[in-house]
Amino acid sequence: MSEEAKQGVFGIDLGTTYSAVSFIDEAGKPVIARNALGNETTPSVIYFENETNVVVGETAKETAKIAPDSVISLIKREMGNEGYVREFFGREYSAPALSSLILKEVSRGAEADSGRKLAQAVITVPAYFGMLEKAATREAGELAGIQVIGIVPEPVAAALSYGLGTDSETKTILVYDLGGGTFDVTVIRLGTDEIRVLAVKGDHLLGGADWDSALVDHIVGEVTAQLGDDSIRDDDMAIQEIWNQAEKAKQQLSQMQSRKVIVRHSGGAATFEITRAQFEEMTKHLLDRTIEITHLALDALDEKYPEAKAQISDVLLVGGSSRMPAVAEALKREFGWDAKLSDPDLAVAKGAALYAAAQWGKIVEWQDSDGETASGAQGEPSTPVFAETEAESQSALVRAERETGLDRDDLKKMGEREIIGSLPKAVGIALADTTVDGWDDPSKGPTPLYVEHIVPAGTEIPLKVPATITAMTAFANAPEIEVALYEQAGTVVGRALAENRIIQAKRIKGLSEFNLPAHSPIEVQLTIDGDGLVRVHAREPKSGRDVKFEGRISFLDADTMQRDKDSLAVLTVMS
Ligand code: AMP
Repeated sequence: MSEEAKQGVFGIDLGTTYSAVSFIDEAGKPVIARNALGNETTPSVIYFENETNVVVGETAKETAKIAPDSVISLIKREMGNEGYVREFFGREYSAPALSSLILKEVSRGAEADSGRKLAQAVITVPAYFGMLEKAATREAGELAGIQVIGIVPEPVAAALSYGLGTDSETKTILVYDLGGGTFDVTVIRLGTDEIRVLAVKGDHLLGGADWDSALVDHIVGEVTAQLGDDSIRDDDMAIQEIWNQAEKAKQQLSQMQSRKVIVRHSGGAATFEITRAQFEEMTKHLLDRTIEITHLALDALDEKYPEAKAQISDVLLVGGSSRMPAVAEALKREFGWDAKLSDPDLAVAKGAALYAAAQWGKIVEWQDSDGETASGAQGEPSTPVFAETEAESQSALVRAERETGLDRDDLKKMGEREIIGSLPKAVGIALADTTVDGWDDPSKGPTPLYVEHIVPAGTEIPLKVPATITAMTAFANAPEIEVALYEQAGTVVGRALAENRIIQAKRIKGLSEFNLPAHSPIEVQLTIDGDGLVRVHAREPKSGRDVKFEGRISFLDADTMQRDKDSLAVLTVMS
């Protein structure tokens, strides 16, 4: 790709079994970028070939059976697991570090296919992911060198790609997502100014692979019966081949009524037909389980939002496995729903690209790392500066319309909706501990500190009203005052500094000339956006001096982040 390639507007569906990337084309439409092998989705599988080479995608998936100890799959299941670490060739990797390898490979393929630079992107996450898992996902992006301009729940992305993001009325939508290895039912409300997940239920060990497995059992049974020999059960290569055949047969049975299967083994061959009806019969218990979970989601919805069930206006099918005709039939039979099916395995990525476009509609300019205004959507990766005033919003929209090809009003409608989440860890600032004798006596050493948690865990974010507190200086004539922002470190909230993790600290400077008395008030205000970005504004009222800074709720601590960077630095990623 040339140096001058245009920066593209990208969305990435970082899936449990498959990942996909979409970008906004010249016509303002989200399209899928194909990978190096020409495929629309890439297996989320990583193969550590040697000290320096890593293979991601189809080849890695095919290697899984041959070199299981060097292959990682289903890494998404570990994204919230703080203790998770894997070692390959003497180097350690966290779950975000491993995910970053998938992101690196899919973005490389997407850049080549789209002819656009992928410097920023929106990444999707399951609706049940908390802020911590979202932070881990964001950090995976960072480790892959991608600036993550938004993290979006998958069902929300799906709704956007189904064209439901630009309605001017509030809509309640149910998303039935049956992928390769997970199943989720989510009810979301797309309001005019907020998007709220009303109910989520799922089984993260249920997916297309279970349908494959049922078919494999059936095929092995037929082969054994026809050949009068069950030695195939011990032949790993033959069984792997049957798995591949079963997945293909399953997919074809979504279009055809029957499919011929031929299996050769130890000099003989077994030939038989599998009909769709047979396949549906042998997998009925799996489909029934998804219906049961859908009922549970509706029960949970009823409990919290009794009016919402009757308001469900659209039922969307997402995930490759929802292509099985039996899915829509069961939803019709059981609930009377006419579920919509359109590009179910690509809808999430496409919706993410649309969400990315909406984010662009809020960006006034891009800045280089030195704070200089960058040359628009061209050139090196740069940091977005989001619009704050009405005038800035207008010019951001005009610019995004020009650059994405999407309609200004649509961008505005999509961008105006805040996604409501919940704060995973309490956040607070360090204060002088006035319960300690001599806390304000400078001769007794430094001021004893503790963390006052101003915003408790579980608080809805973005914060509608900023959290405020008035702190106090300990000693008279302080020349500077440090304001330190902390987050709860473990699962239990504790006030000791050691039970918390520092996010960021800055000083209010230039106070010596004001001769502030001891116990002078310092006003501190915290705001938290939907992505967990905490903004701090601390002010000394007498002098008017203040300090502003921001920091993010994090998943990886600084040491682990550095270790991951070092581990990743020596690797080359290939497909
Ligand atoms: P996803 O994680 O959304 O990419 O879904 C992948 C799963 O969808 C895999 O189990 C695929 O075998 C399955 N799948 C893809 N296409 C079809 C199809 N036409 N019929 C049935 N299952 C399919």
